[in-house]
Amino acid sequence: MEAWGAISLLVALGLALGSFGATTAWRLKNEVDLLPPSTCEGCGHRISPVGLFPVLGFLLLQGRCPHCGYQIPKVYPLLEATNGLLGLSLGLWLGPGPEAVQLLVLFDGLALLSWLDFSTGQVYTLPVVTLVLLQALWYGFFDSGSLADGLIGLLAGAGLFHWTATLFLALRGKEGLGSGDASLLGLLGFVFGWQSLLGLVFLSAGLGIVLGGGWLWLKKGSLTAQIPFGPFLGLAAVLYRLAPALWRSLFHF
Ligand SMILES: [Zn+2]
Repeated sequence: MEAWGAISLLVALGLALGSFGATTAWRLKNEVDLLPPSTCEGCGHRISPVGLFPVLGFLLLQGRCPHCGYQIPKVYPLLEATNGLLGLSLGLWLGPGPEAVQLLVLFDGLALLSWLDFSTGQVYTLPVVTLVLLQALWYGFFDSGSLADGLIGLLAGAGLFHWTATLFLALRGKEGLGSGDASLLGLLGFVFGWQSLLGLVFLSAGLGIVLGGGWLWLKKGSLTAQIPFGPFLGLAAVLYRLAPALWRSLFHF
């Protein structure tokens, strides 16, 4: 029974982070101040405490602002519910401990970064730096033995991408990979350790070729079109974390 209590807390955290993440992503993209309380997108009225409740608020307000009748986009409660399910899955998989919280925050951060990269073509620095700081706290409190691997991963990850980008530039005569991707791979190297880097690079490149290539083919885009790489790195991080031993053995670490 105690485990279920803790898992419910993880689900609640997932719902709350889903709501926070969606708001933060929207504000970063629209260059709106991050701190003030949420307001209705229709009339600017401050959202009531009931409306701030993930999913439940949407249902109680029947999907409308009580002041102006503005229809709240259904994507918000859907994102919140999906994220609640993510909290549930992580709690069942890893047990409702600090590691499940760590992964929930990391996956949410990567989803936010991926969406921003996909819709604006930029890797935002603020979420990357926040995730690096949170991971530093994780090492400090729970896993100081892996800090050295993480620090090497942080430096090598950013460096590896820098050199790949330079090579790309030399071969094609134009910039293919942004410097934001370097900081993102540095972040992943910090979280999973330097041993993860080769696996992450191969995984994300593979995903980029299959999914990105398929997307370009569907849209009949040219091969020199800019595809944001952040979403593939984010997806690679999730796949990597599901079976780190498998990827390390594939790439001999
Ligand atoms: Zn309103």
